[in-house]
Amino acid sequence: MRTHATTHVHPLPLSTVRNLGILAHVDAGKTTVTERFLFLTGAIHRLGEVHDGNTVTDFDPQERDRGITISAAAVSCDWNGHRINLIDTPGHIDFADEVERALRVLDGAVAVFDAVAGVEPQSESVWRQADRYGVPRIAFVNKLDRTGADLDTAVASIRDRLHTTPLVVQLPVGRESGFTGVVDLVRMRLLTWEDAYTERPVPEGLLAEAQRRRAVLDESVAGLHPQALEEYVHHSALTDATLAAALRAITLDANGGGVVVLCGSAYRNRGIEPLLDAVTAYLPSPLDVPPVPGRTAADPTEPFAGLVFKVAATPTGRLTYLRVYAGTIRKGDLVLDTGAGRTERIGRIVRVQADRHAEADLAVAGDIVAVAGVKAARAGATLCAPDAPLLLEPAAVPDPVVSVA
Ligand code: GDP
Repeated sequence: MRTHATTHVHPLPLSTVRNLGILAHVDAGKTTVTERFLFLTGAIHRLGEVHDGNTVTDFDPQERDRGITISAAAVSCDWNGHRINLIDTPGHIDFADEVERALRVLDGAVAVFDAVAGVEPQSESVWRQADRYGVPRIAFVNKLDRTGADLDTAVASIRDRLHTTPLVVQLPVGRESGFTGVVDLVRMRLLTWEDAYTERPVPEGLLAEAQRRRAVLDESVAGLHPQALEEYVHHSALTDATLAAALRAITLDANGGGVVVLCGSAYRNRGIEPLLDAVTAYLPSPLDVPPVPGRTAADPTEPFAGLVFKVAATPTGRLTYLRVYAGTIRKGDLVLDTGAGRTERIGRIVRVQADRHAEADLAVAGDIVAVAGVKAARAGATLCAPDAPLLLEPAAVPDPVVSVA
């Protein structure tokens, strides 16, 4: 992994940043998983009902904040010393452009599947898009509490329809409404949320099945990772440390043919803690992804360049969401909108955190922030230092004019 002597200008080391998207077929549970993430990380303090998608009222400020937070283009939250910038990826196919733009600015993703339906057509198409952008992913098979839910069938559909080797790192405990936890096969521990969330040794009754599944996992990982293969050949098994390192390496190699699979239920509130842990353990930081051509990966000392991926009207004004690809921007900087040939001034730099917009003095390469004060830049625009122009995304080509005879 790269390190930079100058990363201290960032409030957090970049290695702890995860620019994350959640990809899913409509109804697989993206909203619920997002909401649980924000709740568990303390970004929101209440869970709402999501079944009718419209519980946000104007009368309860807390509820309204929750709605704003969940629908923000990017929300920052903290988990175990990591900052997760959660980037919204529209679930509906009508927003294909927005999905592509979101895929461009995020570094890693969780693909959510429904444990009853398995891989659905729309999850297949967003998976292909993520393949094209080389986005490292982990898979989460959600709704294991549902009647008819079956992890093995869902995993088979991941293998067959997405043409990837599923690396199943958990064994579910209990079926359907009796689903009460998982065995973490990497650390061989039982994680259960029956009463409170606890971690325990794997009980006798589950040990044989857990060991069998761990052996399957070791063998699959050895088939995808050279160092793991060497150890596997000598010992017919992998140590926990080798397995964890190989799972991370396989995940970072987005098109390398394997995907880590976790399972659970967004309904079991703390049941997605292991998913948050997997996000920090396996998915890349901005330092792990290839640099913008002509610039160094996430180097805060180079001339500034960033891509606008969303412009949103909010009650406090226009927010321009930006991924910083190179250099540093500060409040008050002049930046060039390369495609439009226009200069803009950065007003405030804000990080959307739950119900508040935290102010920042600067943002550095690798980060995702919103800026206020930029008046005209549109989604897809490159903003950069005026004396070092760069175009991150080709300027949009207008639709051809169709003349009707
Ligand atoms: P989205 O369309 O992908 O954002 O999905 P939602 O989060 O809105 O979830 C779709 C439906 O599935 C809603 O009715 C949720 O309440 C429900 N749902 C989400 N997660 C779970 C789960 O873990 N178990 C069950 N049984 N239902 C879930």
